[in-house]
Amino acid sequence: MATFKTLDDLGDLTGKVALVRVDLNLPMQDAQVTDDTRVRASAPTILELAAKGAKVLLLAHFGRPKGERVSTMSVSMTLDAVQAVLGKEVMFVPEIAGDVVKQAVGILQPGDIAMLENTRFWKGEEQNDPELAKAIAANGDLYVNDAFSAAHRAHASTEGLAHLLPAYAGRSMEAELKALDAALGTPERPVCAVVGGAKVSSKLDVLNHLVTQVDHLIIGGGMANTFLAARGVNVGKSLCEHDLTGTAEKILEIADGAGCTVHLPYDVVVAQEFAANPASLRTCNVHEVAENEMILDVGPQAAEALADVLKTCRTLVWNGPLGAFELAPFDAATVALARSAAALTKEGALISVAGGGDTVAALNHAGAADDFTYISTAGGAFLEWMEGKELPGVVALLG
Ligand code: ADP
Ligand code: MG
Repeated sequence: MATFKTLDDLGDLTGKVALVRVDLNLPMQDAQVTDDTRVRASAPTILELAAKGAKVLLLAHFGRPKGERVSTMSVSMTLDAVQAVLGKEVMFVPEIAGDVVKQAVGILQPGDIAMLENTRFWKGEEQNDPELAKAIAANGDLYVNDAFSAAHRAHASTEGLAHLLPAYAGRSMEAELKALDAALGTPERPVCAVVGGAKVSSKLDVLNHLVTQVDHLIIGGGMANTFLAARGVNVGKSLCEHDLTGTAEKILEIADGAGCTVHLPYDVVVAQEFAANPASLRTCNVHEVAENEMILDVGPQAAEALADVLKTCRTLVWNGPLGAFELAPFDAATVALARSAAALTKEGALISVAGGGDTVAALNHAGAADDFTYISTAGGAFLEWMEGKELPGVVALLG
């Protein structure tokens, strides 16, 4: 793994100014933060820098103001939540560069924390304008990036700054990079990937990359239907991208050439409508799906076989539920496999890394998330990493 500097490389920072990129793009309802997970993720980094005596300046984006000052998108909307998580007062500064920030730095004492305004109020942020980056850097002595979730963007606060100041990965960034490296960078083999979710089209790059990286690829969810159709299975009225069966075939060919075993369901849970416990619910072989039925989950036999595949593996990376898990009983295969993975991880037999909005929800629903080695909440950045892309915010941190 290419190396990056961490907070371990920092000694006493008394009087130094740390510009810290964090993720404060928090879900809100009626001007209230509804989930402070992202703040809690970066709290250790912020508090550690403060404890080392730094004056900490938080940088983050909030919403999509597109280079304009939009008052409803001030990052100060998150101030109360941030103060509550940190247990410390945080000064709000309505700029990200210039004299106002300089004056704020003059007022702050070592160990104090300030939140700068929404970086995306300035056009130069998303354009990665070197002038804006220089202006921000002028008020800092070091740069810490703790926002893996924004690392797939080459913006002034996620990429540009890293070239202008001594740059460090924060604790949450460090944990994410180590987990991702353990999952796909330099993993213990055999490696198994689970890819599910609704559509092949949204995960083509993920599938194409994974078949060249992993030993076993488990395909579930709606996207499995496209692969089944490619193999000549009649999937009835299942969600299926019939125009992508050629693409699916190519992915299967690449897998074959790369020595990756692809696992598709051979029994499935079907129903005539997507509703909780519908009267038309039944389990059947993939070759027995009727014209008026849709596949909504991987069947129990296939699910058991998949759990056996996991038992032969040392590493698991998972994105996308195996079925339409929002409604019972179409959560069954996802829940069963999640619990198997959690149990194997707990025994020390498996390293398990998962990410994706619905995936995290499904693993929580299964009560399995806590036992996974690492759960990424990074969304787009996690997916781009699964696609094998270089993330500019990460590359900029590498020495
Ligand atoms: P993530 O957010 O973790 O990346 P996705 O958004 O790709 O995951 O996939 C989740 C969605 O896939 C869920 O809404 C789920 O209902 C849907 N899904 C899974 N299996 C099926 C299926 N067989 N038919 C239709 N939709 C499905
Ligand atoms: Mg989703």
